[in-house]
Amino acid sequence: MAYKIEDGCISCGTCAGTCPVEAISEGDSKYEINADVCVECGACAAGCPVGAIVAPE
Ligand code: SF4
Ligand code: SF4
Repeated sequence: MAYKIEDGCISCGTCAGTCPVEAISEGDSKYEINADVCVECGACAAGCPVGAIVAPE
């Protein structure tokens, strides 16, 4: 499991810049996390201004 970006994402791009493994990219309607690359460090979730990134269950 990897961190996930929910629909509340406002596409600010902050998370993409904080990910150490470049797992985050801009998608069609919001940013997306590549689950095959994410190492579950949590850095993106901590920096999202709208709390749109959720940890794996
Ligand atoms: Fe979307 Fe949050 Fe990432 Fe900004 S930091 S692009 S609002 S998920
Ligand atoms: Fe990148 Fe860490 Fe967020 Fe995974 S949890 S997308 S590795 S910043």
